[in-house]
Amino acid sequence: MIIMGPPGAGKGTQARYIAEHFGIPAISTGDIFRANVSQGTPLGVEAKRYMDAGEYVPDEITNRMVRNRIDEPDAKQGFLLDGYPRTLAQVEELDGMIKFTGHQLDAVLSVVVDKDEVVKRLLQRAQIEGRADDTEDVIRRRQEVYLEQTQPLIQVYGERDILVEVDGLGEVDEVTKRIFDALDVVPES
Ligand code: ADP
Repeated sequence: MIIMGPPGAGKGTQARYIAEHFGIPAISTGDIFRANVSQGTPLGVEAKRYMDAGEYVPDEITNRMVRNRIDEPDAKQGFLLDGYPRTLAQVEELDGMIKFTGHQLDAVLSVVVDKDEVVKRLLQRAQIEGRADDTEDVIRRRQEVYLEQTQPLIQVYGERDILVEVDGLGEVDEVTKRIFDALDVVPES
């Protein structure tokens, strides 16, 4: 499965509940990048330049990282991707990867939230977590990049009939309930 949505949609929070429910790992490219940044690995050093500016890390780097991660034994029975794919090129790359591993995309969950609400949430998160990319300028840039590069993916998956859209406004557990209700009707592979 994939969970999609603009920065601040609450993907990470919901991804953890969904993954737990299905007994599969939630794979967050943002988290993996941040772990590499804090450990000062070569991947982290490279990724940090882009992340701090609100830009996407180049596809080549991101694709390689995801390929390695879904090859891990815990992903054999399936996985939930959070933050990947984010570009049309990554969509194609993922198709190739899962063809190879024998997985199939069951659902692409799109968490829908309006723009003002997400800016508000991200600014709040900035105060609590102090993420380097949660300043107002960078938030704005991340949203632009999302609209340009990632929003079009919703249509692509919609055309494949695997898109599940859920309203992301409201309390966390309300949204979680909506997600589970919506996923109930999706057949599992
Ligand atoms: P958010 O969803 O709040 O924007 P994430 O934690 O998912 O943040 O990602 C943080 C940053 O990591 C992104 O702004 C980007 O620089 C980088 N990143 C994460 N996933 C990808 C991806 N699939 N492709 C390119 N860059 C990515």
